[in-house]
Amino acid sequence: MDEPVKKAARILREAKYAIALTGAGISTESGIPDFRSPGTGLWEKEDPAGFTIDSFYHNPRAFYRRILPLLQLIEKAQPNHGHKALALLEGSGMLRAVITQNIDGLHQVAGSARVFEVHGSFKKGTCLSCHKKHNLALLATALERGEAPACSDCGGAVKPAVTLFGEELPPAFQLAEREALKCDCMLVVGSSLQVAPVGYLPRYSKNLLIINRGNTPYDDLARVVICQPAGEVLSLLVKELGL
Ligand code: NAD
Repeated sequence: MDEPVKKAARILREAKYAIALTGAGISTESGIPDFRSPGTGLWEKEDPAGFTIDSFYHNPRAFYRRILPLLQLIEKAQPNHGHKALALLEGSGMLRAVITQNIDGLHQVAGSARVFEVHGSFKKGTCLSCHKKHNLALLATALERGEAPACSDCGGAVKPAVTLFGEELPPAFQLAEREALKCDCMLVVGSSLQVAPVGYLPRYSKNLLIINRGNTPYDDLARVVICQPAGEVLSLLVKELGL
């Protein structure tokens, strides 16, 4: 792994505007399963059809029952070496932003400041009737009682602020796209790059670095591909960069 890490460090050092694009794979080492890893991914146990916006409207309570195990893991998860390394890179000025598909908020806890959550966040929710914003604590309390969270003001259904299948992406996606257009180096970490339209962003970057256990459709276009655990690789990378 030494040579590819050294090469990635060289490219990052030379980059004028490097950004990261992360996916569920960066958080598996924090105990949160991804979607597509064979054997452990959520899609091994759950049907993606249960995570559409229609399924939420149809039966919020059933939706929350399905999502509860993931929510409980997110609530107690802590950032790992991978999240912390990206925060260090940003702090050093070598990384300008993190675009994340993750909904767990761990980049911010690790200290990353410019984070674009292109699929929203599970730390927040919004009442579908009066649009009051709620935090995860309300969701967690209701869920422990086996109820779908209801708005404390009007009793309406509270939808988590995550993008479900069939929903439009939040405004953060447009900002993220601008970052991708501006960058000359993109460090992809822990994403299968199979979810559109976020999966298209790497095509904007002329220097693509990929750290992902499995293959991605962009591996042939990347200057460096390292198929090893993200925490380990990113720790080596920041060490190589003297951080
Ligand atoms: P994905 O499941 O499609 O792909 C994850 C990739 O990460 C896989 O290719 C896998 O090989 C790789 N991976 C797993 N563990 C790794 C590790 N320790 N080191 C390096 N690579 C590792 O996930 P995705 O590409 O992010 O896209 C799917 C969706 O998953 C996103 O919309 C996201 O919202 C959602 N999701 C998020 C979380 C979270 O917030 N933590 C958890 C599950 C799913």
